[in-house]
Amino acid sequence: MKIERKILLNPGPATTTDSVKMAQVVPDICPREKEFAGMMKQLRDDLVRVAHGNLEKHTAVLFCGSGTINIDICLNSLLPEDKRVLIVNNGAYSTRAVEVCQYYGLPHINLEFSVYERPDLSVVENVLQENPDIAMVYTTHHETGTGILNPIREMGAIAHKYQAKFVVDTTSSLGMIPFDIEKDNVDFCMASAQKGLQAMTGLSFIIGNEEQIKFSKKYPKRSYYCNLYLQYENFERTGEMHFTPPVQTIYATRQALNEYFEVGEEAKFARHKRVFEAIHSGINEIGLKSVIKREWQSGLVVSVQYPEDPNWDFEKIHDYCYERGFTIYPGKISTEDTFRICALGEIEVDDIENFFKVLKAALNHYNVTLPMS
Ligand SMILES: *Cc1c(COP(=O)(O)O)cnc(C)c1O
Repeated sequence: MKIERKILLNPGPATTTDSVKMAQVVPDICPREKEFAGMMKQLRDDLVRVAHGNLEKHTAVLFCGSGTINIDICLNSLLPEDKRVLIVNNGAYSTRAVEVCQYYGLPHINLEFSVYERPDLSVVENVLQENPDIAMVYTTHHETGTGILNPIREMGAIAHKYQAKFVVDTTSSLGMIPFDIEKDNVDFCMASAQKGLQAMTGLSFIIGNEEQIKFSKKYPKRSYYCNLYLQYENFERTGEMHFTPPVQTIYATRQALNEYFEVGEEAKFARHKRVFEAIHSGINEIGLKSVIKREWQSGLVVSVQYPEDPNWDFEKIHDYCYERGFTIYPGKISTEDTFRICALGEIEVDDIENFFKVLKAALNHYNVTLPMS
């Protein structure tokens, strides 16, 4: 079976291999069978390995849902009664965590920084010093809205100095940028299958400290469906998800993990970096500008300023590229008009070169003039 190849330059879901796509086509199975439970156990252990966790200390808990379910679950499940969470917020995804706190009525501090910059860690430390009731520090590793990579290792060390848990949204970095849960001072990280692992949508997972999950049994239960301890306890007791898992997505994730370990963390990271460099070369060549300081960029997402030409219309350019197999995505910076070109997924430098040929043709077609075109 030949599946048409599409180049997704949006920030996830990502372009997948055909072998991952085809892994979803399996004989019908009831997920309550031992065979399926055995596969999930192996999958959970392998996810801990992706984060370089220690199977004696760390565990992975699976959920059926998109990545946002992890943000919801970590915040509502891991905060003790009468304690506060400090959200170190320099972008759209940490703002989402603030909204989760608002919806659950969780006591929180929204420590906002410019979306164009990395957070100032001395300010983070001051807030922790002045507020001993902070039990959790939460941030986003790679702010997918801008492409900024945050200094989690240093932030985690500060959180731990004040006896706070450190919970990090690693949805758009895990499996792409080398990460070590222990060395990076992280207690809980999270992702979903369709980003770094290049699998399908519908499966999300939280990887973290097993003792802390057990301890959270005593914390207030704020959600029935989205509680970390309840799902963990169910997995440990029965080997199964509490409710119906996304069966075919789990088969695809199994295949994606095999391919991930075959390639290896460093080689995969090197490929993403090559693609990222090719994106920068492409935008430089036609005179487009990225908005984030280069040394703060993750290497996975480039936020590009809209050209000033009045003939520029993102929708039209998007459609022109889309019809030719390339998907670009609007930006997520409320104060500035940007779009994003991302290096996630199973793509290579020649895909980016082909994309820029199409983009140039689109700009010509709509008479958009750029400084260098
Ligand atoms: C993609 C992403 C999420 C999850 O978004 P969903 O739309 O729920 O899949 C969460 N955090 C970050 C940083 C992301 O990039």
